[in-house]
Amino acid sequence: MSLVMSSANAVMAGSYDYGEVAGSILIAVAASYAALDLAGRVTAASGRARLVWLSGGATAMGIGIWAMHFKGMLAFRLPVSVEYHWPTVLLSLVVAILASAFALYVVSRQKLDPVKALTGSVIMGSGIVGMHYIGMTAMRLPAITRYSPLLVTFSILLAILFSLIALLLAFDLREETKWTVPRRIGSATVMGVAVCAMHYTGMAAASFIPSSPANLSHAVRISDVGNNAIAIVTLIVLIAALVTSSVDRRASAEVGEQLRQAQEDLARVTRVVAMGELAAAIAHEVNQPLTAIVTNGNFCLRRLGGATSSPDELRAAITEIVGDGTRASAVISRIRGLLAKGVPKRTELDVNQFIQDVTILLRNEFTRKRVSLRTELACDLPSVTGDSVQLQQVLINLIMNAIEATCTSTNGRREILIRSAKNPDGVLVQVQDSGPGVEPSLANRIFEPFFTTKAEGIGMGLSISHSIIESHGGRIGIVPSSTGALFEFTLPADDASVS
Ligand code: ADP
Repeated sequence: MSLVMSSANAVMAGSYDYGEVAGSILIAVAASYAALDLAGRVTAASGRARLVWLSGGATAMGIGIWAMHFKGMLAFRLPVSVEYHWPTVLLSLVVAILASAFALYVVSRQKLDPVKALTGSVIMGSGIVGMHYIGMTAMRLPAITRYSPLLVTFSILLAILFSLIALLLAFDLREETKWTVPRRIGSATVMGVAVCAMHYTGMAAASFIPSSPANLSHAVRISDVGNNAIAIVTLIVLIAALVTSSVDRRASAEVGEQLRQAQEDLARVTRVVAMGELAAAIAHEVNQPLTAIVTNGNFCLRRLGGATSSPDELRAAITEIVGDGTRASAVISRIRGLLAKGVPKRTELDVNQFIQDVTILLRNEFTRKRVSLRTELACDLPSVTGDSVQLQQVLINLIMNAIEATCTSTNGRREILIRSAKNPDGVLVQVQDSGPGVEPSLANRIFEPFFTTKAEGIGMGLSISHSIIESHGGRIGIVPSSTGALFEFTLPADDASVS
């Protein structure tokens, strides 16, 4: 393409080297890809690591954007020798890095509302325009540069528009998903082409009118070797940034996996600890049917040995043996269920039945601690779907906490009330005790992992209960009450239309 720069009184013809133009587009796309990738890293990092990612990322991205513009300028060939004032070139690089740092900062914030996106794009766009025109003033040639106000304005608007698109795309692509890489490549191509459009509009805005030789102090000529070196160094910097980012991403994914594993193990340990507390209750539960089985078995043996055995009597005793055996085995499978590292199993649940099962399991604990239990169960409850083992764990946690709380109560009353009710969210379960209650200032903290006020506490019970209820689509919390502590949770009803 051959250009004739418009001017009333003089003409300096310039032309574009297409190979160089293509090189500048390639760098623009690569820099855009790196920018999108680095935005994700800056967002994921925190503390000092965030600062390192922000400054390192901004340097790599800034070099990329700057190199694109500089190569774009070099792609424009004029019939005279052109040199560059290197301090000004350096200044344009600094402006590019600052604009990049600002862009990475904006997209790594939690929210990007329209006002922030617009102010962000005006600032980032001004940075890019600044870099571009500062870069142009670095040109040293025997000519005066004139700018077309219309095209300059157009290039500024393009830079702001491009920045807005870039900020929105980068914000949207921060999180890793399955389609992130192809989407980033697509977005980087759009951004790269947009950067080039802004740059070449800015170039078209300038006309060169022959004049006296330029002042060549601090000016350097960019040889072909230098020109290629800029491209190669830029690509190396961008590739290095991408490789570092990918290594870091993999390392943090590994840490995340380890953390998830640790949390899972911890949840299991807590269950085991809760089981330890329940051991006495369970031993009692199993012992009772076993004693009854032995008694009934002995009875049958005695009757079979004597002459007076009646089949009805024997049948009744054996039926009891079978019933007790079934009960004992149900208790054992419940224990196994609590300890199992299995996949959650969702089944339809009758909440009242489920509350009764748990209170039976804890019956001995109530007796041992001399705590009286009252239940107020609504009879018109809709059914819910859930993992009975996990939900049992929640209710056991709440009841065990309530039992412990009533034991520290100074008023001498040791009472627990369990209520079930229909509510707009589905089914509501409440556990209220006559203990000292929870200080309002601690109400939010008690659901945090490891928060405990007990000397022997682990502080995981409520936190695990919270995640279990959330995973069932319900909510759990503590509500103000006149006596003791009142915890409640909801579970969505199977029939969502229930109100
Ligand atoms: P832990 O029982 O091991 O401390 P939890 O997560 O179950 O762990 O409970 C966290 C904290 O919440 C307890 O240490 C206690 O301060 C408070 N808490 C829980 N339930 C009650 C309750 N019923 N009454 C008073 N405080 C409670």
